Amino acid sequence: MQLAIDGAPPVRSTFLPYARHLIDEDDIQAVADALRSDWITSGPRVGRFEEAIAQYVDAPHAIAVNSCTAALHLSLVALGVGEGDEVILPAETFVASANAVLYAGATPVFADIDPRTWNLDPQAVADKLTPKTRAIIPVDYAGLPCDLAELGAFGLPLVTDAAHSLGASYQDKKIGAVADLTCFSFHAVKNLTTAEGGMITTANPEWADKLKSLRSHGIGRDAWKRFGSGGGWFFTMDELGFKVNLTDMAAALGMSQLKKYDQRQSRRQEIAKRYAELLSGRDDLHLQHLPTDRVSGWHLYVIQLADGAHRVGRDQILEALRAENIGVNVHFIPAHLHPFYQQQGWKRGDLPTTEHHFDHCLTLPLFPAMTDQDVDDVVTALEKVLGAYRR
Ligand SMILES: *Cc1c(COP(=O)(O)O)cnc(C)c1O
Repeated sequence: MQLAIDGAPPVRSTFLPYARHLIDEDDIQAVADALRSDWITSGPRVGRFEEAIAQYVDAPHAIAVNSCTAALHLSLVALGVGEGDEVILPAETFVASANAVLYAGATPVFADIDPRTWNLDPQAVADKLTPKTRAIIPVDYAGLPCDLAELGAFGLPLVTDAAHSLGASYQDKKIGAVADLTCFSFHAVKNLTTAEGGMITTANPEWADKLKSLRSHGIGRDAWKRFGSGGGWFFTMDELGFKVNLTDMAAALGMSQLKKYDQRQSRRQEIAKRYAELLSGRDDLHLQHLPTDRVSGWHLYVIQLADGAHRVGRDQILEALRAENIGVNVHFIPAHLHPFYQQQGWKRGDLPTTEHHFDHCLTLPLFPAMTDQDVDDVVTALEKVLGAYRR
C-alpha cells in the first residue's frame, strides 16, 4: 500500500494528537469563582483540593505544590536525603525525576528496567545498591504501578513518581496509599490537570508537616500559635525552604477535574482495551506487560516495535505515521542519554534494556475524548505503515 510519506493520501484527513487536555465549562466556572473570591493564591481551595486527593487515593495526608518536580524534590529533602547520598531510579522517565535528586544535593543512580513491564527492575536495583543509597524512586511508566512490594523489600524509603498513575492501583490499593511518599503531576498533559501543579501523599504526619513548611520558605504553618501571638502578623522561618506552593485558581481547576476523573479514567481504560484487542498477537510489536495485581492509570499507550521486524528504524516509522496524520510520540529519551547526564559520566551501553526500549518505542494517541473511530484509524495507519516496512 502507498504511504502518505511517499505522497499517497493519508489514513486520516485531520491530525490526531497523542494527547489533548479536556477543559469543560464547569472547569472554567470553577476557576472564575476562585478569581472572584478573596483568595487567588494558596487559600481554602488548596486545602479542599488536598483533602479531596487524600480521600481519592485513601492517604492520610496530601500536600499540594506547584509541580511534580517540586513534589519529588521536597520529598527527598523531607527524608533528609542530601549531599553524599545516592538515589536509585530508572532512566526511562522524564528528566524531572533525576533532576529532583540533584536539586536535593544527592546523586541519581540509574538502574535498568524490566524488559516486559518497562518499569524499574528490582534485580537491577539490587545491583546498584551501595552503603550510600538512601531512597528509591519507582516511576510508574505510562501509568503502570511498579512492583512496590519487591522494591520496598530493600528497606529503603520509596518516593514514587506517580506523574502517570493517579487513579492506578497496586494489589487493590490506590497509588498514593502504598509508597512512603507519592508524587503526582497536574501538568497540562497529565490525566488530571491544573495547568501546572503537583501533590505529595503520605501516611507519615511528620513528613507531612515538614513538607508544608518546605513548600513555603520553611515558615512553620502554626508558628504564630506557638509563639502565642494572636495578631496574625508574627511568623518564624525555621529552616531554609522553597517557594513552590499551589494557587487557589489551580486548586479550583483540580477540584473540578477530580469530579469527572473516574469517568475519564474508565474511557482511557476502554481505549487501552480496544488497542490491546486490535494489536495483540502480532509478531512485529510488543505491548506493555500488565501484571494481574495492578491497574494502570493509562496516561500513555506505548508499544515496542519488535527487533529486526522492519526494514527501517523507529524514527522512520514515526515520521510515516505522522504523515498519515497520526500523532505518535516517543516516551522517553532516557535521562542518561541527555548531554547533561553524559557529562556526569553516563553513556550509551550502561542500561541495555532501557536503550533497547527507547530505540523501539512509540506512543500511540490516548486521551478520553478519542472516539472508537480514532482508535481504529491509529490501528489502520499502524498496519499500513508496519506492513509497508515489513522485512
Ligand atoms: C510530567 C512528568 C514529571 C514532571 O511533572 P511536572 O508536574 O511537570 O513537574 C515527572 N515525572 C514524569 C514521569 C513525568 O511524566
